[in-house]
Amino acid sequence: MSWQAHLREGIQALAPLALYDYRSGGPGLARLDCNELALPLEAPELAELAGELAKVSLHRYPEVSGLSLRQALAQRWQVEPDEILLGNGSVETIAVLMTAFGGGRPGAPAKVLYPEPSFPYYEVIARAHGVVPVAVPLEASFALDPSAFEEAIDRERPAVALFASPNNPTGNRFDPAVLERLARRMDAVFVVDEAYADFAGATMLSRVRVTPGLFVMRSLSKIGLAGLRLGALVGPRDAIAELDKVRLPWNVNAVSLALGVAALAHPERLAARVRLLIALRRELEAALRRIPGLVVYPSEANFILVRVPGDAGEVFRRLLEKGVLVKNVSRPGLLERCLRITVGTGAENERCARALEEAVTTSSAASRHCLPPEGP
Ligand SMILES: *Cc1c(COP(=O)(O)O)cnc(C)c1O
Repeated sequence: MSWQAHLREGIQALAPLALYDYRSGGPGLARLDCNELALPLEAPELAELAGELAKVSLHRYPEVSGLSLRQALAQRWQVEPDEILLGNGSVETIAVLMTAFGGGRPGAPAKVLYPEPSFPYYEVIARAHGVVPVAVPLEASFALDPSAFEEAIDRERPAVALFASPNNPTGNRFDPAVLERLARRMDAVFVVDEAYADFAGATMLSRVRVTPGLFVMRSLSKIGLAGLRLGALVGPRDAIAELDKVRLPWNVNAVSLALGVAALAHPERLAARVRLLIALRRELEAALRRIPGLVVYPSEANFILVRVPGDAGEVFRRLLEKGVLVKNVSRPGLLERCLRITVGTGAENERCARALEEAVTTSSAASRHCLPPEGP
């Protein structure tokens, strides 16, 4: 019997984990593809963190409960440390959820509900755990149609629901009242993924204690610390205690624990970079709106979704030729001809808008079929 025969169903059909090889783009490449924060930590801050790094006992395992980091996050989010499950990035907490809640019952596999389009890893992580994905389409405006999700909840009885708000790649935030209603209706594990909440200035963290089954996922990746891989799930303490039994021990390494605590000790620095990024987003949005034929969707995150006239693949390649890497999210359906652009530095945004204008106005595909603009 070959090893293939023993692979969990659905794994071979998954695409390889292939992200762009940045070395092929040259040193000046504007990396606007991954929704990282464009603004690096400044030198004095890096020097402070280096001091903390020097104190880490690398020959020891990390503190297994991650208590000091959970305390720092609890203070930031106005919750208690035992309401927090730490992850090696927030995606790991989704895997922990699938381990704990993905078992199903004999003859009835567990299901996970999420909107489409949304974060592609929801499906990947579900399939990797043998959990059945249930994707419910958003409206053309990318808003939630509550009745479609209520119907899916009643019909499929999902164990877990994952709603990114603001949503990736669409950039809009869902109505918190609707999310809360869906959470109550589901009465299972309803996760609001707030990876981009700092850019929206809104959070459902305070609703966790009053809404049965509501969990909020947060991440430090999008606010300037992607390299540390720090994320967390906030939820009812009894549920967090069960989840904590099945995470792998020492899932967050000692370097990330120490540097995370040190970075969180200066919330004003994190906030200043987020504010700056929001100002850059407004500038980029204004520049993109001046490009004829381009549909620009409003964003409460650190990226902007656009719909190009003509062929998205061709526009993507032309941008890359100009040293601007974006994410081509175009596929049949709601994201047809769409590109996702991470907000960059001022110079990167200018370069991006200029290259996009050129690509859109001269693209052969655009002139072949001049499509009417579609409003957001
Ligand atoms: C980027 C992103 C995350 C963050 O994942 P980490 O593992 O914390 O880096 C989570 N959810 C969504 C929707 C994202 O776009």
